[in-house]
Amino acid sequence: MGKVIGIDLGTTNSCAAVVENGIPVIIPNSAGGRTTPSIVAFTKNGERLIGETARRQAVTNAERTISSVKRHMGTNWTTRIDGKEYKPQTVSAMILTQIKKDAEEFLGEPVTEAVITVPAYFNDIQRQATKDAGRIAGLEVKRIINEPTSAALSYGLDHGEAQKVMVYDLGGGTFDVSIIEIGDGVIEVLSTAGDNHLGGDDFDARVTNWIVGKIREEHKVDVSRDFAVMQRIKEVAEQAKKALSDAESTQIVLPYLTQQRGEPVHFDATLTRVQFGELVRDLIERTQGPVQSALSDAGIAPSELGKVLLVGGSTRIPAVQEKVRQMTGKMPSRNINPDECVAQGAAILGNTLQGNYLAAPGSQKPMLLLDVTPMSLSIETVGGVATRLVERNTTLPTRYSKIFSTAAPFQTNVEIHVLQGERPMARDNKTIGKFKLGGIKRAPAGVPQIEVTFDIDANGILTVSAKDLGTGKQQSITITANDRMSEEEIAKAMYDAQMYAGQDQIRRDALALSDESKSLLAKTQQAMKNAGKSLEKTEKKQLKSDCVTLEKCLKKIRLDKVSETDVQNLRAAKQQLEASSARVREIFGNQ
Ligand code: AMP
Repeated sequence: MGKVIGIDLGTTNSCAAVVENGIPVIIPNSAGGRTTPSIVAFTKNGERLIGETARRQAVTNAERTISSVKRHMGTNWTTRIDGKEYKPQTVSAMILTQIKKDAEEFLGEPVTEAVITVPAYFNDIQRQATKDAGRIAGLEVKRIINEPTSAALSYGLDHGEAQKVMVYDLGGGTFDVSIIEIGDGVIEVLSTAGDNHLGGDDFDARVTNWIVGKIREEHKVDVSRDFAVMQRIKEVAEQAKKALSDAESTQIVLPYLTQQRGEPVHFDATLTRVQFGELVRDLIERTQGPVQSALSDAGIAPSELGKVLLVGGSTRIPAVQEKVRQMTGKMPSRNINPDECVAQGAAILGNTLQGNYLAAPGSQKPMLLLDVTPMSLSIETVGGVATRLVERNTTLPTRYSKIFSTAAPFQTNVEIHVLQGERPMARDNKTIGKFKLGGIKRAPAGVPQIEVTFDIDANGILTVSAKDLGTGKQQSITITANDRMSEEEIAKAMYDAQMYAGQDQIRRDALALSDESKSLLAKTQQAMKNAGKSLEKTEKKQLKSDCVTLEKCLKKIRLDKVSETDVQNLRAAKQQLEASSARVREIFGNQ
């Protein structure tokens, strides 16, 4: 049985871990990094770059670079690059493919199973989309786990004492807060709340706008529509933000930004931590609502918290830490690594799902993990009302049924509109599925009895079924949100992903082969020159012809459209010249 890896598929960075000898270890990527930027790019010649290599060229190749795709998970967002359309699931699958490959190289064995983390506040569709991304990448997703729960899981192992813990997770694109009870052998999520659209990217945007405003003020030029300039500004904005986590002020320098009446425009300014604090104050304030709601849902006062754990890169900002201290009255713990603990927790769960015990020192007991559903689930009933079936923060897995009836006389079908959210009216909540139940026996309004059942599995993924109790017939119903990928689309995406992996391999082979062929040609030609007249006519003729063939094959190799046949021909031509030139290279090569 292969290992189940844990993957923190982050907005900005992703991280993977695996349990080895009972301890979760971080899987380094091929460049040796412990986290991999969640960035995918396509070069002009069609090469696909993932992670650090994609990040490095993001500024110079912005229109072919995709970042922060997690923000679009579960939506119908698409992007088009070189005529090809990409969905959030397919882009995420590319990142996962890279992680899978790195894990296979690290472990020296195939990796086919994973636990993937998602923000606690991800809705059903976003969870499904994440699972689909895993499938496309060739990973069986054994479990989707909430990021804060995962962090608590990695923390809980080292600090076995029973306590209630707040996990405050502010990453690149999302904010989550969970109250978790760590007990003897049980990790129970008491409540969770958050904001799906709040994170470090928003902080970067504020600094970016500040820079753009200053350029406008000082140089009377508006750069906000210049894509390339904006990319440069965004990059330095993030750097400045990070620098201010350690320093009181930072210098932002952008030479040769643009031109103004033929003159180059340079930007040079100082941003202080205090100014930055002002720029993002309201964003940090926005975390207060979810913190209060998580505490009140868990039914505890801040003073009952044993610990506050900080997760996510944005919690490195001193003003964020100060806000957490203010809200909870506690100094947040700094002894977990905010970038790695989520992946570690996922690896621990993956290991447990294989029937192994958790890695708690000295513990031989299986740890029970009880997670909750982050939002209430309802269906729309008469008058556009959202009628609740499952309250938020219900422990998973859960199943709940309720009987409904028809609103009009002799109605033979009903539409079941499934909603996620806390608002009383259907229209204010998120639609996560709609389906029709037909074949209801004709009867006066209110007579038919339709049983609607919500089933939420341990991944937080919902299945809804409806049954007409009058006829006893259970309709087979599947939820189809229009922004979910269909089975066919997933199958096609899986095929594309394999094709891509194949193409990447062919391209790599072609590159290596081209380099070797060029070097062989150079060596042969040098040896022939050295041999001069001592080379027999027939041998010379043969060598010349083999060199020409290899040169022709080399010319055919185009990295934007490399075909397997071309690579095979190149390999054959190289082998031919290797054989025919062996003698002359051996004798005359080193003169
Ligand atoms: P995550 O999604 O947890 O990887 O968090 C990524 C976010 O954390 C990005 O917005 C980063 O810019 C931000 N981040 C990383 N390091 C720092 C730092 N030292 N100070 C402020 N923000 C940071």
